[in-house]
Amino acid sequence: MYKTEISSITNMSLAELEAVCASIGEPVYRAKQILSWIYNKGATDFNQMSNLPKDLRRKLAEKCQVFQTTVDTLTQTKDGTEKFLVRLPDGNEIECVLLREGKRITVCVSTQVGCAMACRFCASGMPGLERNLNAGEIVEQALHVKNHLPPDERLTNIVFMGIGEPLANYDNVIKAIRIINAKWGLGIGARRITISTVGNIRGIHRLAQEELQINLAISLHAPDDVTRSKIIPSNKKTGIKNIIAATQEYFQSTGRDISFEYILIDGMNASRQDAESLARLLKGIQCNINLLPLNPIEEFNFKPPSREAIETFCKILKKHGLIVTLRRKKGDHINAACGQLRLQSINFYGKD
Ligand code: SAH
Repeated sequence: MYKTEISSITNMSLAELEAVCASIGEPVYRAKQILSWIYNKGATDFNQMSNLPKDLRRKLAEKCQVFQTTVDTLTQTKDGTEKFLVRLPDGNEIECVLLREGKRITVCVSTQVGCAMACRFCASGMPGLERNLNAGEIVEQALHVKNHLPPDERLTNIVFMGIGEPLANYDNVIKAIRIINAKWGLGIGARRITISTVGNIRGIHRLAQEELQINLAISLHAPDDVTRSKIIPSNKKTGIKNIIAATQEYFQSTGRDISFEYILIDGMNASRQDAESLARLLKGIQCNINLLPLNPIEEFNFKPPSREAIETFCKILKKHGLIVTLRRKKGDHINAACGQLRLQSINFYGKD
């Protein structure tokens, strides 16, 4: 039997855990001791917290639990990428991915069970949205990865680019970011945290007000509204102009550059003309463009363009003075690359 979500320590801020300590007649400094066990020393159980009195450990175990989730399976690939299948308390499963690039070790986390966005090229949205993850369920993905690393490796970066639309689960995502960023938490600097969004305008506005120096990535994928709406249904409501305006506000209030993600899909958004339109669209905007050939999804017909076409696209953008990175895909052999993460099982128990 799982206890309710709030009783998981990974779902709590320092102040919330201090309140729990006070409620069982303990001094508040115990909260920092407990958190240090979890976030620094890799404890997964109160019994491992050897400097806490036995009686306190027992009282804590009655009231709360350390983890809500477990790692079901771990799949590894030669390029150092590892995919974690994480089981949630209600039986649903989500995925997170560990990516290695020299000293940079990144975890890519999911924020929802499924996704409502239904982008035409992405496996994560195929079953629709089941529910939001709570903050602890997000934090635990990073913790599972951190606890799995050998002693000579350190988790350095976190990207919110797994299953789900992070800004559609705003409060839980921000709470998770504050825990991941906190000195008493995972201690990962804001500049090493990136949120990727399909273009949730209200979420971008709210994020700009948070006084968090996190990076913002936009899944743009098209240079005009007609093309974008064909592959990203939510674009019919938002529109590219409004998204770009929101990113400019974000840049002004945080000073952080914006990244635009652009997956290249053959016959859809990858022609010379598309490159020219994209260059016109982003002219004068402080940003980086990340180009990525589409990772094919079995159920969809889309294909990536030829290598030549990809290079031509990249060259045109560079000729216009834009900052472009052609990204290598990682983890596609284990279906851990962008857009390949999917739900393993959906629990419809209790739904009407
Ligand atoms: N919902 C957010 C977070 C998901 S991030 C967002 O849209 O940004 C996952 C990234 O992978 C997004 O940029 C998404 O557009 C991209 N992606 C989805 N399917 C893909 C595919 N088949 N090949 C390559 N990238 C894909």
